[in-house]
Amino acid sequence: MDAATTTTPAVLILLGPPGAGKGTQARMLEDTFGLVQLSTGDLLRAAVAAETEAGLAAKAVMEAGDLVSDEIVIAILRDRLDEPDCAKGVILDGFPRTTVQAEALDGLLSENGQKISAAISLEVEDAEMVTRISGRYTCAGCGEGFHDTFKVPAVEGKCDKCGHTEFKRRADDNAETVASRLAAYHAQTAPLITYYESHGVLQRTNAMGKIEDIANDLKNIVGHAMS
Ligand SMILES: [Zn+2]
Repeated sequence: MDAATTTTPAVLILLGPPGAGKGTQARMLEDTFGLVQLSTGDLLRAAVAAETEAGLAAKAVMEAGDLVSDEIVIAILRDRLDEPDCAKGVILDGFPRTTVQAEALDGLLSENGQKISAAISLEVEDAEMVTRISGRYTCAGCGEGFHDTFKVPAVEGKCDKCGHTEFKRRADDNAETVASRLAAYHAQTAPLITYYESHGVLQRTNAMGKIEDIANDLKNIVGHAMS
């Protein structure tokens, strides 16, 4: 390729429920492909701090205790995508959340001659996720991690590492809470999955395997989407 060739930055959307390893995989994709992960919260904070026009608008809305409108978020994203570090592409995290936002995003991208490269859905099995997450606990003495099913202490009730006999569980890791987090995720995400499927950019990947296997699947999908 000659030096004058410019490639269109990739725009990836990573969808996955809490506990599916989305953060880990997003960092891997940043490192592998020179992408930048953009979360809505970070975008807003940076724009407010930089006192851009859209940032000041967002600040006024937030100070009034209101939610920042889709228009303002899109304006902030428009500014951000122009910055040099986004030249290779971005991974959007937490935006879009609705099909209205997805349409607004498509509108913004088409202004720039861009489009969504891939919307990747990290697919999980809910029952298995509940078992994995709700089974976690740690030693109260040394913090060593254990699991009801996958990693029980060699001597029941005694930490393998330090011998402590007290253990801690996170209150929000109980089965009921995990199941309701997953249900909320599916309810919120289902319309987006349908939207991107109908636009031919949805990629489903099994997120129940080993971290390295999931990473390899994602590298293939993203490598293909960026080529
Ligand atoms: Zn211990």
